Amino acid sequence: MVNATPEILRDTKIVVDLGKIAYNMSKIREMVGPQTEVMPVIKANGYGHGALAIAPTLIKNGAAALAVATLTEALELKDAYPDYPVLIMGHTPNRLLHHVVARDIIQTIWSIEQAEMLGSLAASLQKNARVHIKVDTGFHRLGKAPSDAFAAEICRMFNVAHLCVEGIFSHLALAGTEADEIQYQQFLHFVQKLEGLGCRFRYQHIADSIACVDYPRYRMNLVRPGALLYGMKSAQFGDLPVVQALTFQTAISQLHQVAAGEGLSYDYLWKAKRDSIIATLPFGYADGYPRNLREKGYVIINGVKAPIVGVICMDQCMADVTDVPDVCCGTEAIIYGDGHDGSMTIEEAASLAGTNKNDIIARLTARPPRVYIGE
Ligand SMILES: *Cc1c(COP(=O)(O)O)cnc(C)c1O
Repeated sequence: MVNATPEILRDTKIVVDLGKIAYNMSKIREMVGPQTEVMPVIKANGYGHGALAIAPTLIKNGAAALAVATLTEALELKDAYPDYPVLIMGHTPNRLLHHVVARDIIQTIWSIEQAEMLGSLAASLQKNARVHIKVDTGFHRLGKAPSDAFAAEICRMFNVAHLCVEGIFSHLALAGTEADEIQYQQFLHFVQKLEGLGCRFRYQHIADSIACVDYPRYRMNLVRPGALLYGMKSAQFGDLPVVQALTFQTAISQLHQVAAGEGLSYDYLWKAKRDSIIATLPFGYADGYPRNLREKGYVIINGVKAPIVGVICMDQCMADVTDVPDVCCGTEAIIYGDGHDGSMTIEEAASLAGTNKNDIIARLTARPPRVYIGE
């Protein structure tokens, strides 16, 4: 059989709507306009959505390149799609730079030593190594601060044989409008100074999801949205009507009658206040569900909220379904949805778990199968 849908071997699954990712990408492109390109960030397995599965959708919808954090993430993409441009935004240790050159990966660097090493590796393979330079405007994570010495060092990089300096970028700490503006101005002035010294950068970029919505002028000629692509909104001033692309769902594995006064799960931390019907659900913290959602989280079953009760285990948890009609083994439960059915959104999960939305989606592990719809 051609194109047979692979059998899904688990009830707990992550359904990703590629049509929604395409829609979000088109909204971002519309917002930034034709002068600015979009480089989707698909690190951490595409924020849990599956980097390999979403990459073609993003390229088809006009991505200039794909950005990841690590060499392993870049290699995984290059194995599947040798021709897609992939930027590693993180540091690659010198001993591993030969992989970058051999696989035509674009690397972030900030020193002449890294530039020379890439240039000589590229020369030996008769290739050109492509790099983006990282400028530290205050985050103090990667890159060097703007200075005459750094400017001179960057000018030298342009003379390294077999090296193509393709871009320059910085990252905002998003510590507030004033602090953001200081970072942006520092970056802009440094790029202008370098241009005055004869350096030309095809790409200049500083904006992540929040910045590209909130600060139109920070878009420069390339933006690096991650969260926004998946439908996560965090912008404070602007708004972009992106939609959550992912649904996390499962099905009841067993039902129990629990008498008033009885406990359940580890340590019996939850005790039934009334005679209750408890559903066992086959997902747990090893699937990426926050363990601290005990007695805060809930699932939607037959349109009704069923609170998670008792300690959340590695692979399973329990929900009180006493007030839910028509439950049986196999009934579907929505863990994270887009909220239209009353389901817990990623945003609500983040707020209940005391973290941010990116953390909630990026922590979804490889164990739940991904199911792709919408294309
Ligand atoms: C993760 C990351 C992004 C994307 O951030 P979002 O907030 O998800 O848009 C952009 N740039 C860099 C350098 C990053 O590490």
